[in-house]
Amino acid sequence: MHGPFFLRPFPHMVSLKLTFIPGLCLLLFVACSEPVVHDDITKAADEFQEYKGANGPILHVLGTLQDGGAPHMGCDRPCCRNLFLRPASDRKVVSLGIADANDDSGELALFEATPDVASQLHALQESSGIRGVLPAIFLTHAHIGHYSGLMYLGREVLGASGVQVHAMPRFCSFLQNNGPWDQLISLGNIEIVPLQEDSLVQVTKRVQTLPIRVPHRDEYSETVGYRIVGPNRSVLFIPDINKWELWERDLKQQLALVDRAYLDATFFDSSEVGHRDMSEIPHPFIVETMAFLNVLDSGEKAKVHFIHMNHTNPCLSDTSKAYHHVLSSGFHVALVNDQYPL
Ligand SMILES: [Zn+2]
Ligand SMILES: [Zn+2]
Ligand SMILES: [Zn+2]
Repeated sequence: MHGPFFLRPFPHMVSLKLTFIPGLCLLLFVACSEPVVHDDITKAADEFQEYKGANGPILHVLGTLQDGGAPHMGCDRPCCRNLFLRPASDRKVVSLGIADANDDSGELALFEATPDVASQLHALQESSGIRGVLPAIFLTHAHIGHYSGLMYLGREVLGASGVQVHAMPRFCSFLQNNGPWDQLISLGNIEIVPLQEDSLVQVTKRVQTLPIRVPHRDEYSETVGYRIVGPNRSVLFIPDINKWELWERDLKQQLALVDRAYLDATFFDSSEVGHRDMSEIPHPFIVETMAFLNVLDSGEKAKVHFIHMNHTNPCLSDTSKAYHHVLSSGFHVALVNDQYPL
């Protein structure tokens, strides 16, 4: 888990900014300076961490569930039975928010426009203090959990004006040529901005993103994941993908390029899908991803945060055996309201 970040003024910010930009420089500094006692090294490292979070853009985890959310329509199993009686505020469909504050106000962005977008945008505005600002939106693909929240931008609800919606070319043409999405465009509620694969685009003033194609069921659109790049840290976000072996890129290499990764964890293991052959299911099971990455050192494993969990996934409960197995194996489960300084 990431510790709290600090917003109080940091007196050594300028000198640290010059001295310690990548983590490597901290090591060089320690190696090249006068001998220092251990406590000083620890203090310098703490201050470095502090600087890295101070006033920088922040990534917010706004939702961790698969498209259908929870409680899941038609489910009368224990996973959802009580949620119909008492909905839980941490059960939201997968989404990440970016808040980039400046002196006056700031900029916001959403990765995905889910059916829970109303409460997710509210949570992002409240926790960042950037209120009254609409986000730029970056979409991965045209499955309902990932884009249908766009409907709330239309005249029946928000009547937004000019919200930038970034999507891959085939996805853009799907939105332009099908109702009700085409009406959002004709009324100026949204402006479509086509993305190009492997081409960096600006998210906010200090954050950029790189769309990366991934294999998935592409009925209406391409599917991408995103590398989200801030001034100090970067994050990989792949909520939906077929098996890692079917991806033309190497997950381990992609993981090495970032500080944290939110990865498709739709199902934990085969018991969740009636003990069907795991190879038939077009998602990497959590147990498969953990086995695939088992050769990595603990630092690399700890980057992985599982997300996009089906309502049946036992990792949604922090008291489950599965949840503890993930943590004791060195990986993490993404948590709603978690914040990560970029
Ligand atoms: Zn999905
Ligand atoms: Zn359920
Ligand atoms: Zn999907």
